[in-house]
Amino acid sequence: MNVIDSIDKQPADAVNNIQSDLLVQTVRHAYENSPYYRRRFDDLGLSPSHIKGVEDLQKLPLTGREDIQADNWSFLAVPRHEIAEIVSTTGTTGNPVFIAMTGSDLDRLACNEEKSFGYTGVEKGDVFHLAVTCDNLFIAGIAYYSGLIKLGASVMRIGPQNIIRHLDLLKKIRPDGIVAVPSFMVHMARRMKDSGVSPEELGLKKIILIGDSIRDVDFQTNTLGGIIENAFGEICYSTYGITEAQLSFCECGMRRGLHSHPDLVLAEIIDDDGAVLPDGEAGELVLTPLQLKGMPLIRYKTGDVTFKISEPCLCGRSSVRIGPIMGRKNHRLKFKGVTLYPKTIENALLGVKDVVNYQIEAFTGDDHADNIMIRIGSHVSNGDFLTSLHDVLRAKARVTPLVELERPEEIEKRLFEGGSRKPVTFKDRRLKLYE
Ligand SMILES: [Zn+2]
Repeated sequence: MNVIDSIDKQPADAVNNIQSDLLVQTVRHAYENSPYYRRRFDDLGLSPSHIKGVEDLQKLPLTGREDIQADNWSFLAVPRHEIAEIVSTTGTTGNPVFIAMTGSDLDRLACNEEKSFGYTGVEKGDVFHLAVTCDNLFIAGIAYYSGLIKLGASVMRIGPQNIIRHLDLLKKIRPDGIVAVPSFMVHMARRMKDSGVSPEELGLKKIILIGDSIRDVDFQTNTLGGIIENAFGEICYSTYGITEAQLSFCECGMRRGLHSHPDLVLAEIIDDDGAVLPDGEAGELVLTPLQLKGMPLIRYKTGDVTFKISEPCLCGRSSVRIGPIMGRKNHRLKFKGVTLYPKTIENALLGVKDVVNYQIEAFTGDDHADNIMIRIGSHVSNGDFLTSLHDVLRAKARVTPLVELERPEEIEKRLFEGGSRKPVTFKDRRLKLYE
C-alpha cells in the first residue's frame, strides 16, 4: 500500500505518471489473479501489455454490478486465507454483492478516509461521533472509524441508536464532529426543536454527510441540506462512497464538488452507449480503483449519475472532482422533454409544509412515454395546497406531474407494500422494453 501524500498538489503530468503506473499494476494483478478478468481479457484478445498508461483506459472493458452478481467469487484475486474482511452492498435490487478485502485493502480504505476527513479540515485530537452502522457487513462505518483513527482523531462509535441516546451523548461529550446520513440530522434537528435543545449545547463544528446529496448540480445547498444548515449552521460536508470500489469522494471547504484521491481511483463519466463524456456532462460514474488487492475492479459502472470536473479546485488541489450524485441511472425519467430523477422531486417535496409522506410512481403512458404520478400524504386536502404543490414542483423540479392527495396512513401502506423493510418512495412501473 503506497499512498502518495502530496499527490493532490502535484502538476498534472506527474499525477498522470503515477496513475499510469498504478493502472498498469492494477490491470496486471487483475489479469494474473482474478479468474473473471483473465476470462474477460482472453475473450477480447486483450493482454495487460496493451495497457501502457491512463491513455489506454478506454481499451479496457466495462464491468457491471450484474457481472459480480453472476459469479461473485471469480473476482477474488488473492488466496482465501488472505481475506481480512468481507463486506456487502445494500439498497439496490437483486442479489447482494460480496467484496473481500485484504489487510492492505483495509489500510488503503483508512488512507482514503484519512485524506477525505483531512479535506474537510479534521485535525488530530478532534472528537467524532459516528452515527452510522459499524457492523452488519457495512463498509462505511469501518472506513470512517479507521480513517479518523489514522488521522489521530478520537472516535465515538455509536452506530444506529435512538435519537435520545445520540442527543444525550452529544451533550455530555460535545464532540467536534459527527458522521451521519442527512435524514438522521433532519430527524435530530426536529427533535431538538421539540425538546428545546439548542445547537450550542452540542457544540458541533463539522457535520459529514454520507448518502443523499445536500447540493444541487450548481453546488448550491439543496432543500435537504438547507434544513440541516438552518438548524446547525453552514458546517456540512458531503461525501459519497461506493462499497464495490472501496473508496469515497469528499467535499473540501470550497464545497464545489467532491474530490477524488488520484492515487486510489480513476474516474470517468460515460453515456448510455459507454462513450466517455467530457467535463460537465452528466452520465454514469465509472470507477477504476487503484491499489486494490482482494477484488480488483476495472472500469466499474456505479449506476450513479453525476459529472466530472478536471480543472484544479479553488482549494489548490488538482485532483479530479465529481459533482453531486443526481440519481440512479435506471431511475432516470424523461417527462415531457425534461430529464430528471426521483431524487429531484423528493428534494422539492421536502420543503413543503404539510407533506407528511409521499410516493413517486413512474409508468409508461399510452403514448409510450414516461409518466409520473406523485401521491402525497397530508392532513390538508384543499385546492390551495394542491396549487402550492404544483408551484413547488414546477419551480424546483421543472415538471408538472399528476398529483394525488391521500391520507398519510394510506401512503404509509403503499410505502411498505409487499413487506418491504425500507419505504419504497420511488415505484418504477415503466415497461422495460430493452432490458
Ligand atoms: Zn477543493
